[in-house]
Amino acid sequence: MYVGPFETTESCDEWKREYDLAFPVVPDADGALFRRLTSGWVPWSILVAPDGEVVFSENEFDEAGFGAAISQLLAKQTGVAPTATESTQRTPAARRASKAATVVILGGGVGGIVAAHNLRASLGEEHRIFVIDRSPDHLFQSSLLWLMVGDRREHQIRRPLERLTRRGIEFVHDEVVEIDLERRLVRTRARTLDFDYLIVALGARTVPESIEGFGEMAHDLYSLEGSRGIKNALDAFTGGKVGVLVTSMPFKCPAAPYEAAFLVESFLRAKGVRDRSEIHVYTPEHQPMPVAPAALGASIVEMLSARGIQYHPLFTFQKMRPETREIVAADGHAEKVDLLIAVPPHQAPEVVRSSGLLGVSGWIPVDPGTLRTEHEGVFAIGDVSTVRLPSGKSLPKAGVFAHNQAVVVARQIADEIRGRRDGARFDGGGYCWIELGDGRAGFAGGNFYHDPEPRLRVARPGRAWHWGKVAFEKWWLRRWF
Ligand SMILES: Cc1cc2nc3c(=O)[nH]c(=O)nc-3n(C[C@H](O)[C@H](O)[C@H](O)COP(=O)(O)OP(=O)(O)OC[C@H]3O[C@@H](n4cnc5c(N)ncnc54)[C@H](O)[C@@H]3O)c2cc1C
Repeated sequence: MYVGPFETTESCDEWKREYDLAFPVVPDADGALFRRLTSGWVPWSILVAPDGEVVFSENEFDEAGFGAAISQLLAKQTGVAPTATESTQRTPAARRASKAATVVILGGGVGGIVAAHNLRASLGEEHRIFVIDRSPDHLFQSSLLWLMVGDRREHQIRRPLERLTRRGIEFVHDEVVEIDLERRLVRTRARTLDFDYLIVALGARTVPESIEGFGEMAHDLYSLEGSRGIKNALDAFTGGKVGVLVTSMPFKCPAAPYEAAFLVESFLRAKGVRDRSEIHVYTPEHQPMPVAPAALGASIVEMLSARGIQYHPLFTFQKMRPETREIVAADGHAEKVDLLIAVPPHQAPEVVRSSGLLGVSGWIPVDPGTLRTEHEGVFAIGDVSTVRLPSGKSLPKAGVFAHNQAVVVARQIADEIRGRRDGARFDGGGYCWIELGDGRAGFAGGNFYHDPEPRLRVARPGRAWHWGKVAFEKWWLRRWF
């Protein structure tokens, strides 16, 4: 058996000892064996039985699968059945003592991408970094708002995750179906990957299907399909009542429903049907962006009112009646809406729910500074995690936090692998643009960990902030892909 250019004679000997192999294992430092055995793309790992049968062949180095194949082969030869994980499982200490570490990142969204790039930049190539995502593409979600009013096309806000491989990050396009914390492995539909470090960045799952009649009556503001539907509905709209509805809390990007209302208002004005339309925002919140100080919420309410958008706080949504096009609150109050744009309920992804990582909140509790879970070497960042703020409220779910947390987690892991103790801590820093329509935006940012409530600076809305948001989008899609 030959192994790739990153292995040395010593590491091959280590392998032989660890797996008790009877056949030679040789490094392929100059790639000569690779070239001899290839025509184009060839599997990295091939396991050949003594009778010449190829018992394992993989395009990538699938350590868990390879270990299992070796165990099975040995069992066949010796007649002793190994336990399922015997050959693949190593304790964290044993893994760290070996030269190469494996970091598995679940999710190729904001947090996953930033963590992967930062780790790759700090670690040598002997360390492997995997990103697993069930989607082939990374979607820049905040641009869904522009897509909805025709300012973006789909291809402009998506990038193939496969491009990560150009940067030395291994991308697995598959669904994560199991996180086994005890055995320190992750299963996808097709593969098993064991890890030294795990970063859970699976985001929040939206579940419009949990509301009866959602598909018939509402357009999902938080999905590509929904944004497409909103665009078509707005194009066909000739006047009537538009409702922007927040169905439940928490939801990601607290500004998004308000931005949607502002953008729709501006769109309908430009289309010449504003005077025949009403726009309403229905939400269970007591103010827009309830984690922020009351003054910020009040300024958004003021801007809504200035544009004739009617605001209905403390609207506790209960159900939809598609037959009469009504949304009904828990107190029985019903509102008829011609065009409904809705933020669906959010929950932790199914695989996380069955992993044992969730706390009573329904999200993964983490240390506010380190983003560590209670399991060694296991981190959770972004929307799937929850951090309680000094005010007793939770840190909002937003890409900016997923991004900043990912940088901190990557530093901690890289330093730990290199034998250093790092003091990197997430300090609660975050910011947010608020699209106001007509090419204008507002901006607020500051420290969300400030006690007793976040300390934020709010900038005067203007065109420059809108262009700042556009520039950030362009930078993001170019920087990581
Ligand atoms: C309309 C809209 C506007 C927004 N605007 C802003 C904004 O202006 N500013 C801001 O900061 N934030 C904004 N956000 C929020 C921001 O997009 C999210 O908070 C951010 O993407 C969270 O990052 P994450 O890494 O936690 O999760 P995500 O980016 O959601 O990534 C999670 C990934 O996990 C994958 N995944 C999930 N389950 C599985 C599974 N079982 N197997 C494999 N893969 C899986 C998903 O496919 C996804 O790629 C907006 C969101 C929306 C919808």
